[in-house]
Amino acid sequence: MASTSVSISGQQNRVKDSCRFCGSKARRTFIDLGMSPLCESFPGPDEIQRGETYYPLHVYVCEKCFLVQLDEFEPPDKIFSQYAYFSSYSDSWLKHSEAYCGKMTEALGLGPQSFVVEVASNDGYLLQYFAQRNIPVLGIEPAANVAKVATSKGIPTLVEFFGTALAEKLAGEGRQADLVLGNNVLAQVPDLNDFVEGLKILLKPDGVLTLEFPHLSRLIEHNEFDTIYHEHFSYFSLLTTVRILEAHGMKVFDVEQLASHGGSLRVYACRAEDATHPSQPSVRSLLDEERKEGIASLESYQSFAKKVRETKLALLDVLLTAAREGKTVAGYGAPGKSATLLHYCGITRDLIEYTVDRNPYKHGRFLPGNHIPIYHPDKIAETKPDYVVILPWNLKKEIVEQLQYIREWGGKFIVPIPKAVIL
Ligand SMILES: [Zn+2]
Repeated sequence: MASTSVSISGQQNRVKDSCRFCGSKARRTFIDLGMSPLCESFPGPDEIQRGETYYPLHVYVCEKCFLVQLDEFEPPDKIFSQYAYFSSYSDSWLKHSEAYCGKMTEALGLGPQSFVVEVASNDGYLLQYFAQRNIPVLGIEPAANVAKVATSKGIPTLVEFFGTALAEKLAGEGRQADLVLGNNVLAQVPDLNDFVEGLKILLKPDGVLTLEFPHLSRLIEHNEFDTIYHEHFSYFSLLTTVRILEAHGMKVFDVEQLASHGGSLRVYACRAEDATHPSQPSVRSLLDEERKEGIASLESYQSFAKKVRETKLALLDVLLTAAREGKTVAGYGAPGKSATLLHYCGITRDLIEYTVDRNPYKHGRFLPGNHIPIYHPDKIAETKPDYVVILPWNLKKEIVEQLQYIREWGGKFIVPIPKAVIL
C-alpha cells in the first residue's frame, strides 16, 4: 500500500489556489476547457431572457499528491440545494444498485440489527433495496427536492450537507453504521478532508465504507473530458484515494473496476486498526497498473489537452457536415456533462435543434448557456430527425436499444465521446 507522505490542510485555513487535499501551492494545468455555466441549472422560459454566469473550467493537477482538481466558484448550497438529477430515471443504474445491495447484504451479513447510511442518497434509488430487506437505513441528501421524493418512498432522509459536524452528531446518538456508502459524491465535495474524516467517524469499529467514483485513468484513456464540470471539484485515481483515506485513519482493502459512468472504481475501506478485513490483491495490482500508466508522473497528465482538442474537431466535422447537407439533428438526454461538451465545442441550436429527456422536471426548460430546448422523448418520433446525438454516451447501449425505432425513417446515432462516430 502507498504510504502517506502528505499532510492535510483544513478547508477553513486552506490557502487560495492550493491543493484541496494536501495544501500544496504547486499545481499545473491539466486541462483548460474555457468558460461554462453551472451544468445542473436548467433555466425555464422566463429565465432565458436574463443573463447567466459562466465560470472557468480550468483543471489543475497537484505536483505533490497528483489530485486532479477544479477550484470552487460558488458555495455548494447554491449548486446542490435544488438538484435536477434523479437517480431513479436510469434503469441501468437501478439494476446496478440492486445488485450492490444483494452483494453487500450477503458479504457483511446485514439484517434487521444492522444500520446502513448513504451519503448523497438522492431520491432513495439505492436505500430502497436495503429497506425492502428490513435493514434499517438513513439517507443524507442536501437537495431538498430530491430528498422529498426519498421520504415519500419511506426512506428516512436528512436534508443536510455531510461532514464531521453531522457525523459526530450521529455517532453521539449511537448511530454509527455497519455500512457507509457514497456513490458519485466524493468528487462533489469542496472540503474533502472534512468529508472523509466524517466518513470515518460514522463507521462502527468494524464497519465498512464503500465509495464509487469515476476513475481518473479511464477519464484520461477515453477522453471523457465532459465529465469535468463545476459540480465535480476533484478527480480520483486509486493512488490519491488510498492516500486520502490513509491520511484520515482508514485503509482501502479491496477495489473493483466498474463500467458505470465511463469506468468507475468501487473502493472498500475500513478503519486502519480494523483487522477483520484483510487487504485483497486487487488493491496492489491496480496501484501497480496506475503507476505503469504514469498516474504518479506529471508528463502523463500533460498530453491530455491535445487529445481533447482532437475530439472537439471530430465532433464538429460530423455536425457541420450534417448541417451543410441540410440534415436535422436532435439530442438525446440532458445530462450535466452536456454543458461541458457543448460549450467547449461551441455547439448551439444551429447544430443541435433540441434535446429530450425522461426527467419531467426538465421538460419545457433549456440546457444552460446555449438554451437548446428540452422536450419529452416523444418529440423524436414526432419530428423524425436524421441524427440523434447521444449526450449521456455512458448509457449508449441502453439508449440505442430504446430508440431502435429511428431506423424506420433511416435515422442514425452520433456518439460524441471518445471520438465522434455515427452508428
Ligand atoms: Zn496535493
